[in-house]
Amino acid sequence: MKITSTLCILLATARLAVAQTDFSKVEIKTTHVAGNIYMLEGSGGNIGVSVGPDGVLIVDDQFLPLAPKIEAALQKLDKGAPKFLLNTHWHGDHTGGNPHFGRKASIIAHTNVRKRLADKPDTAKEALPVVTFDDSLSVHFNGEEIRVIHLPPGHTDGDSVIYFTKSGVVHTGDQFVNARFPFIDLGSGGDVAGYVKNVETLLQKIPAGTKIIPGHGAIATREDLEKFQQMLMETMAIVRNGIAEKKSLAQIKAAGLPEKYKDWGAGFINASRWLEIAYNNLDKK
Ligand SMILES: [Zn+2]
Repeated sequence: MKITSTLCILLATARLAVAQTDFSKVEIKTTHVAGNIYMLEGSGGNIGVSVGPDGVLIVDDQFLPLAPKIEAALQKLDKGAPKFLLNTHWHGDHTGGNPHFGRKASIIAHTNVRKRLADKPDTAKEALPVVTFDDSLSVHFNGEEIRVIHLPPGHTDGDSVIYFTKSGVVHTGDQFVNARFPFIDLGSGGDVAGYVKNVETLLQKIPAGTKIIPGHGAIATREDLEKFQQMLMETMAIVRNGIAEKKSLAQIKAAGLPEKYKDWGAGFINASRWLEIAYNNLDKK
């Protein structure tokens, strides 16, 4: 019950955030990442873009009201409409533009992304992935192998990371957010311990020098991902110790987190919420 009510509050807050965002004021910023990969920022999850002789492929598409602006930003890179759209996971700040871009692009995503989007009563047919996979697949596009690899339950139960193998770029979706506390969606099959484990896996697989497009936050390096892992380990230890000492969630929240993580709570999840997510998931085990 506790988890359900926390999630309801979180989802209600997310919806409120969407309702409060004045999309007419959002501008799309384009940044070259490496090779033929770009990143678009506006409101919602970071968008990855591959541009080259084969055309355009995008990773995630933010919110539907931003679709015309995203399209305009893409047009500056290449005149054609995206041929492929990869969804890192099903959350609305990463798939909101699907009804728009899905009219021309083939949407590719993990099986559970299609399942969860299809379960939402208001999802348009064009918004659903047409190619689904369970473990991994590759798109051979713009002179490189783009590997889409599903991770075990972490942020949700349908997350994938995308490796642009020749450009040396990885889009992690929300399995990594740069210098922020993560949201772990327990109601969508997410798992705190699994999330931490997935970060470990990413660190093993991502070579030094790789540019990382995180789900949210600035373009990152492997060092930033290491800092993120450090934060996860340290804050989880605080929660675990608190539980072992029979402390209540309120007591753990009151004690708070080390000063160095003050700025990490500036995003969607503040320190108190992060402690709550970790506590509720660990307390069950
Ligand atoms: Zn997400």
